[in-house]
Amino acid sequence: STRSPCGPRVRGRNVAGKVPLGVRKKNLRIVVTGGAGFVGSHLVDRLIARGDSVIVVDNFFTGRKENLMHHFGNPRFELIRHDVVEPILLEVDQIYHLACPASPTNVVGTLNMLGLAKRVGARFLLTSTSEVYGDPLQHPQVETYWGNVNPIGVRSCYDEGKRTAETLTMDYHRSLGIEVRIARIFNTYGPRMCIDDGRVVSNFVAQALRKEPMTVYGDGKQTRSFQYVSDLVEGLIRLMEGDHVGPFNLGNPGEFTMLELAEVVQEVIDPNAKIEFRPNTEDDPHKRKPDISKAKQLLGWEPTISLRKGLPLMVNDFRQRIFGNPKTVLV
Ligand code: NAD
Ligand code: UDP
Ligand code: UDP
Repeated sequence: STRSPCGPRVRGRNVAGKVPLGVRKKNLRIVVTGGAGFVGSHLVDRLIARGDSVIVVDNFFTGRKENLMHHFGNPRFELIRHDVVEPILLEVDQIYHLACPASPTNVVGTLNMLGLAKRVGARFLLTSTSEVYGDPLQHPQVETYWGNVNPIGVRSCYDEGKRTAETLTMDYHRSLGIEVRIARIFNTYGPRMCIDDGRVVSNFVAQALRKEPMTVYGDGKQTRSFQYVSDLVEGLIRLMEGDHVGPFNLGNPGEFTMLELAEVVQEVIDPNAKIEFRPNTEDDPHKRKPDISKAKQLLGWEPTISLRKGLPLMVNDFRQRIFGNPKTVLV
């Protein structure tokens, strides 16, 4: 077992504390809340591949068993249907906390996972969001920027929930010495992304495949920075394994207007795909682009997959989920 019989463990060191830097304990036990979701399932793939034991806690609110089915039967993998709003007792070394409904219960789930981290001495990583910057008055966004969030807007529940989750995380760290990490994730796309939750990349890709017009909200000149999911997973693991609390921006600094995104989707999927303008939603941030200097410097991390390289990598997955698997031809 990797656990000492009582109390928190000293991470990455043997009894004499002489293990050189960078050598980590083998075979960690890791819980991934929200592990049946888009990002979580890719993270689980990486952790299982490197030899760790992974417990996924998910209530399938937006996640899907299909995202994890390839691990069923692996003795190092366990899937628990559970709502993180309810307390749970587990024995683990690390907690990746991704479970997040866009509702105030977000905060309760985070509190429970921090309570779990405290009880077993696990390291806790919060997946926060670029939305903590709101409609930013600083561009690009640096971690030291406090943000411009409307507390009573239609998006506030998610934004303020994550801001409160960050606050709780830092309070547990400062007052109880819990080892914590905070990632501020910028728009991420890739295979297994929800097809119908209204995010712009999934909408455009699904619309182009279905030969429907791509719905551009507003004038389409608002910008976002799109990160491929494997780059994010690499960043999350480096953050968890590293020595820095954060918060760290994890995102791709390449900045695109929604019209430019639509053009890339045309290039990749269908040059004849049409564009249709729709009224924009309230409080839509005008610009968003991460400053990732801190992650570059302290985690040695930066994205490697551009939008033009990454988009084609999700098209097959979307095609199969929209049109069904092509029949296997036996020869
Ligand atoms: P997702 O919806 O695919 O995954 C979230 C998972 O959490 C789902 O499997 C869902 O079933 C589960 N879940 C929700 N509420 C739960 C609860 N109460 N108890 C247990 N499980 C619950 O979303 P994702 O894109 O994979 O996002 C993962 C995390 O990253 C989230 O915390 C999200 O806020 C954050 N994030 C994602 C992006 C992005 O662009 N994908 C950007 C910023 C932040
Ligand atoms: N908690 C949990 N699993 C644990 C330990 C705690 O779900 O292994 C929950 C606990 O039920 C509480 C929350 O985490 O709702 C915060 O726990 P903590 O011990 O920090 O606070 P307290 O219970 O002292 O208010
Ligand atoms: N958007 C769009 N068409 C869509 C969905 C979204 O033009 O079909 C726009 C939306 O108005 C926003 C941007 O795309 O300006 C990103 O939206 P998304 O919900 O994907 O991410 P977020 O706003 O959370 O960054």
